[in-house]
Amino acid sequence: MTKEIAVIGLGQFGGSAVKQLHKLSADVTVIDISESKVKYYEDYAVECIVGSATDEKMLKTIGIEHYDEVIIAIGEDIQTSILCTLILKELGVESITAKAQSNHHGKMLKKVGADNVLHPETEMGIRLANQLVNMSLVDYMEISDDTAIVEYDANERFINSALINIGIREKFGLNVIAIKRNKEVIVPPDPQMNILENDVLVIIGKIKNLNRFESKMI
Ligand code: ADP
Repeated sequence: MTKEIAVIGLGQFGGSAVKQLHKLSADVTVIDISESKVKYYEDYAVECIVGSATDEKMLKTIGIEHYDEVIIAIGEDIQTSILCTLILKELGVESITAKAQSNHHGKMLKKVGADNVLHPETEMGIRLANQLVNMSLVDYMEISDDTAIVEYDANERFINSALINIGIREKFGLNVIAIKRNKEVIVPPDPQMNILENDVLVIIGKIKNLNRFESKMI
């Protein structure tokens, strides 16, 4: 079934989310206080609303509680994003994702009921630093405070070894969840499969174990 998602706030972050959701065939409703912003995104949305994130009456009228997900993409105006989260929670919205501008903002969003809090600038900074320091690191995504999914270029230690013989799970407590080979994604990979040059390993595990793996193997 098509997901119904509302995006409140059409800045850089909210706008990119809307375009990508449209590309992925989600039904998107866009809400912004600025008429020109709403107009700009009308081709990507099934419903367009010029209104405030804190207008409880408007949110009730559009039946915001029936959406699968509501994204609050207002960073600058902290007070508005917190009040909006609170209103959405009280109206019974199932899943609220909110963008935080700072750690304090993030904590407050969690306190008032946001289910997911994103720190895009912080996350991009960490990703960049990781990529610069570790050249074989292709991508890095934290999925909680202590767990991440990491993509590594297979180095010469792995090439022509079967996945099972590297001991990623036994020695490091990590799991290879996929192997990217040319344009193909092999998921789940067969443990007996040989790793080839130019493969990218997609690994999930505790960050402390990933660090140990990196220092010993990468
Ligand atoms: P980014 O950093 O992603 O560009 P901004 O915080 O700068 O995010 O963008 C905020 C967006 O939210 C703007 O498009 C602005 O018009 C909109 N906005 C600000 N206040 C409200 C509000 N009370 N209700 C709805 N939209 C708002």
